[in-house]
Amino acid sequence: MTDTPLDFGDPADLDRLRRDFRAWLAGHPLPERRPDEPLPVFLHRWHRQLHSGGWVGLDVPERYGGRGLSALHQVAISDELGACHAPGIPRIGYLAHALMEFAGEDQRRRWLPRMLAGDDVWCQGFSEPGAGSDLAGMSTLATRHDGHYSVRGQKLWTSYAQYSGLCLLLARTDRGAPAHRSITAFALPLDRPGVTVRPLRAMNGDDEFCELFLDDVRIEESERIGAEGDGWPLAMTTVSYERNALDTGHISKYGLLVERLRRVARDRRGELPDGLLSEIGRCFVDYEVLVAHARRRTAERLGGQAAGPESSIDKLLMTRTEQRLYETALKVFPGELHEEGGELFGDYLYSRAASVYGGTSQIQRNIIAKRVLHLPSLSKPPNPGAT
Ligand SMILES: Cc1cc2nc3c(=O)[nH]c(=O)nc-3n(C[C@H](O)[C@H](O)[C@H](O)COP(=O)(O)OP(=O)(O)OC[C@H]3O[C@@H](n4cnc5c(N)ncnc54)[C@H](O)[C@@H]3O)c2cc1C
Repeated sequence: MTDTPLDFGDPADLDRLRRDFRAWLAGHPLPERRPDEPLPVFLHRWHRQLHSGGWVGLDVPERYGGRGLSALHQVAISDELGACHAPGIPRIGYLAHALMEFAGEDQRRRWLPRMLAGDDVWCQGFSEPGAGSDLAGMSTLATRHDGHYSVRGQKLWTSYAQYSGLCLLLARTDRGAPAHRSITAFALPLDRPGVTVRPLRAMNGDDEFCELFLDDVRIEESERIGAEGDGWPLAMTTVSYERNALDTGHISKYGLLVERLRRVARDRRGELPDGLLSEIGRCFVDYEVLVAHARRRTAERLGGQAAGPESSIDKLLMTRTEQRLYETALKVFPGELHEEGGELFGDYLYSRAASVYGGTSQIQRNIIAKRVLHLPSLSKPPNPGAT
């Protein structure tokens, strides 16, 4: 079995896992999305179905409801999902990693099995109206009282909060301390008094984004994740996994479209307008660069390297590949532009968000410059008198 991009010439057990998954999938295919069924509700049904087969949380220890296998097993299943056009598992990977790293043992045993099973759906409450790229500038405040906190503030762009039961919330617990030591993480049940979730409809008709208003919401100390001040490293861990190219199945999905374009380039070469052939060529090169990079990152992860600032490279490469690919595909298959509910057009529209969610492309470049390449900051103009 060597027809998915991240297939390493798999060792026997991995090869068996892929085969078992394909056999299971043949008997439990992707369900039909019902007319008018909101996307997250459909994805939740799919999540539950995958979990019933044991295909969620492969690299999560068994005591937390996973299968205790390696990261490579998880990557292989994400790769298989993408290769058959099935959606990946919603928002599990990176939130689970954050909880495994920062939550206490009791909390992990309480939250992780339910998260993996889809019994609890989590959303991510990081961004605020004045704090997106500059997350450290957040102003939502959690004031400590005897055994609990009272939280006041507003979150923005919280994806699918209206379909979630719990929010991984960041709030400031100390106004005096430097920003990176004053942010704390909480697991906030969204049915708490004082929480208002207001969905925002985007121009493509989706209501993914929400505003979250927190009006003196009580959060118990037992719902704090890690110590006060751990919120910043937790956020960095979360976004590092979120930016990573491996767990999403995106690469296999891009591969299917690249193959479709390649067939057109071969069969209809003479009919293509000027320049389109070289655009297809560029898509192919971007895709191959991404696959090579993802293979290297998989090898690093297998060697025990945690996700870190290098994930910004993954995010940039994925964004570049995805945006160019869908732009080109719509030029090659213009009919699909007008197909109501057509998958290609929907994917094209969503690809525009890739350079914003999980941190914008400019911010990824800043991270690479500072934390990967250790380049000097240009924030101060050079002193003309210096020699
Ligand atoms: C589809 C989608 C889903 C999302 N889901 C969630 C979610 O579930 N939870 C959540 O918390 N957030 C979510 N977000 C929010 C996302 O994390 C923020 O939109 C993102 O971090 C950018 O913040 P901002 O929108 O406030 O833009 P700003 O930070 O205001 O940036 C505006 C522009 O200025 C540029 N800029 C800002 N600072 C710098 C700098 N220092 N150097 C160079 N350029 C800079 C940016 O690159 C951008 O082009 C989501 C966003 C999208 C698009």
